[in-house]
Amino acid sequence: MSKKVVLVTGGGRGIGREICMAFASENTHIALTYTRDAQSAEQVKQTLTARHISCSVHPLNVQNFSLCQSVVDAVEREYGTINVLVNNAGITLSKQFVNCDETENEAVLSTNLQGVMNMTLATVPSLKKSTKNAELGRIVNISSNTSLCGNAGQVAYSVTKAGVNGFTRVCARTLAQYDIVVNAVAPGYIDTDMTHDLPESTYSHVLKVSAMKRTGRVEDVSAIVQLLCDDHCQYMTGQVIHIDGGKFC
Ligand code: NDP
Repeated sequence: MSKKVVLVTGGGRGIGREICMAFASENTHIALTYTRDAQSAEQVKQTLTARHISCSVHPLNVQNFSLCQSVVDAVEREYGTINVLVNNAGITLSKQFVNCDETENEAVLSTNLQGVMNMTLATVPSLKKSTKNAELGRIVNISSNTSLCGNAGQVAYSVTKAGVNGFTRVCARTLAQYDIVVNAVAPGYIDTDMTHDLPESTYSHVLKVSAMKRTGRVEDVSAIVQLLCDDHCQYMTGQVIHIDGGKFC
């Protein structure tokens, strides 16, 4: 059996890191990217290498299509065609819309939405080669609970994640003919660097409105991403799975 090749953008920290860990097994090659924090990405590689799991680390700004293409080419050269793409890289912007300048909005749009489209476009030819050989071909996009609820203090962010949901559905329709399955997960408040700087009031609000009365852990997200890429999970595509402890906005 050939090993699965899993590519995770932003796999050095937070949710992306945990997704790499969840997929790590003797039957996988893990390729992960970072944009600024090379040290965290290298630490993931060291951890996996110590467990005899092959892992490569690639610098990447998902805003740039040709850089995405170069990473895909490098991963294919090293490990063969890609089986799983996890579009995890993202940034947030927590400000009232009227106080945001256009550069800040543009950075969020080009990372969270254009970046997902860039990476998908670059990876689909490789996924198609995998499925043509009767191997797995999966894309999981990391959306957000704000895509459904909207978040007054995170306008550009909420818009990009709603765009990711739409993109997920369109890709699912377009790529089904190649046996490529595309889904998204939409986490609520997950404890990572991204949520560390949010005000205490946001944290208390989540505790108040979520049925489970707790914030999420990175493992809560990685478990569902892994499930969506299981060989047996074949007939569900174009879905957005909310992982928010029953927050319901
Ligand atoms: P972190 O801030 O911990 O990690 C973000 C990752 O994205 C980092 O690895 C970072 O790279 C990478 N990244 C940022 N900008 C770029 C770029 N331009 N090109 C390539 N990579 C980039 O965030 P989380 O782990 O919390 O978030 C991961 C995903 O989950 C995001 O898409 C986020 O929107 C989504 N999400 C998070 C929630 C939460 O509550 N935490 C809730 C809902 C969704 P580097 O390490 O080099 O800085």
